[in-house]
Amino acid sequence: MRSMDIRPCSSLVQEGPLMKSLSVEGHFTFDRNEFAAMDFGNRFHFLPSAVLHPKNTLDIAATIRHVWEMGPGSELTVAARGHGHSLQGQAQVLHGIVINMESLNGKEVQVYRGRLPYVDVSAGELWINVLHECLKYGLAPKSWTDYLHLTVGGTLSNAGISGQAFQHGPQIQNVQQLEVVTGKGEVIICSKEKNADLFHGVLGGLGQFGVITRARISLERAPKMVKWIRVLYSDFSTFAEDQEQLISMENAFDYIEGLVIINKTGLVNNWRSSFNPEDPVQASKFISEGRTLFCLELTKSFNPHEIMKVDKEIRSLLSQLSYIRSTLFVTEVPYVEFLDRVHGAELKLRSKGLWDIPHPWLNLLVPKSKIHRFSEVVFGGILRDTNNGPVLIYPMNQSKWDNRTSFVTPEEDIFYLIAFLHHAVPSSTGSDGLQYLLSLNNKVLDFCEREHLGVKQYLPYYTTQEEWRAHFGPKWEVFARRKSAYDPLAILASGQRIFQKGVSIL
Ligand code: FAD
Repeated sequence: MRSMDIRPCSSLVQEGPLMKSLSVEGHFTFDRNEFAAMDFGNRFHFLPSAVLHPKNTLDIAATIRHVWEMGPGSELTVAARGHGHSLQGQAQVLHGIVINMESLNGKEVQVYRGRLPYVDVSAGELWINVLHECLKYGLAPKSWTDYLHLTVGGTLSNAGISGQAFQHGPQIQNVQQLEVVTGKGEVIICSKEKNADLFHGVLGGLGQFGVITRARISLERAPKMVKWIRVLYSDFSTFAEDQEQLISMENAFDYIEGLVIINKTGLVNNWRSSFNPEDPVQASKFISEGRTLFCLELTKSFNPHEIMKVDKEIRSLLSQLSYIRSTLFVTEVPYVEFLDRVHGAELKLRSKGLWDIPHPWLNLLVPKSKIHRFSEVVFGGILRDTNNGPVLIYPMNQSKWDNRTSFVTPEEDIFYLIAFLHHAVPSSTGSDGLQYLLSLNNKVLDFCEREHLGVKQYLPYYTTQEEWRAHFGPKWEVFARRKSAYDPLAILASGQRIFQKGVSIL
């Protein structure tokens, strides 16, 4: 489904009546709302009729309550928009109301020190700002995404996954309390102890049960520096074995990810410029020869006085791994620079006009028992000639995911995140063009389906409820029950295309 309709339609939200019957401290805009019809995927463009720029939670509650009171006869729907970094219009709503969550920014980031420190933040806050505030107290959240210019509410509605998830779980595992506005306009505080069903529902809930307005996130002591390490493998089994061994170890590395390097002759050297080879002579002799390579990426955090101890620990840990010995690359950077690493790439791409282009990304969670078959067919076949953006791969432990949240994982103790982060060259009809890359994604999905690999999509995208039912599997009934409890008219986040207003939920 694609819409290029960016004409405002005022039949559903009329400026006069809406403004009159609603008393908000923030304001609505009815024109120049094109930003709300854009997202990172840059493929779907649905123009809302109005954008609410809320000043506080009550503005959001009043707006949703207003739509709720219009009853099932109205087609009006509402979507929270974080930083608009969705891929397929999930935060958009054609002719409805978008809530610009970022206008809540900067309100009361409160850090609580103590034995179990936490931060209370507005859900429209960017993670990068949360980090900077916490660092003032020598603290930081434990679990991250690779890119920090995303909102707290946006990633908690999905999961929030990065290389720390193997030991801390995803971001949704590190939340103590939420303030939520339901689809009836009620403001509810929830946690594991209080209104637990709503709490678990909204975590990974794709915006279906309420708008998260505030979140309380667990913190830990922040290190000052990280050792950042990359090593290469040419054999997938050895690479996967090492990754799996590392995620089973306590207190080994703090971050574990990986990259698949496909169809790059020579270019493999690109990232080495910012890393120092352990053995420059041997490293300079290493040539990829177009082979598919697997790069293991690790960090170990430290404070400057611990450097000797940390170096020793790293040497000992690396000696247990089976990477190609000449390909050990290490660098040392401030913790904040490591966490904000993708922003540098963003600025470069923006300066070349390469950020606001279509991004046909595909993110999958693949069970451990199927990862070898997946690698053989996808990296060795379907993607063999492709090179249109990074391909990430790293395993996580199921035990770090709370099954009570809305998030669905594959049913195995270990599963891998595989992220195909393609970018499409606008107007190209070749192998770097949108249609070609979408067809590759479809080939991967068809293969997973055909071979019953038990794969789950992350940042899932489906167009029919049948597909959503299959995605949630045994969790569908709980998901649908929560929808009828907290957003019975299906007002919220219609851009996910799970429920439709006016169509029975169960
Ligand atoms: P939006 O795209 O604005 O919203 C996403 C969905 O959540 C929409 O349905 C929206 O209606 C809903 N929503 C937004 N705010 C709220 C709220 N407060 N309450 C309820 N519902 C809400 N993800 C990872 O897990 N790990 C990564 O490493 C990672 N890296 C990324 C790197 C880049 C460059 C990009 C573009 C995305 C990355 N993502 C990653 C994906 C990211 O987590 C999702 O795209 C997320 O949706 C983006 O957050 P956002 O704040 O832009 O949310």
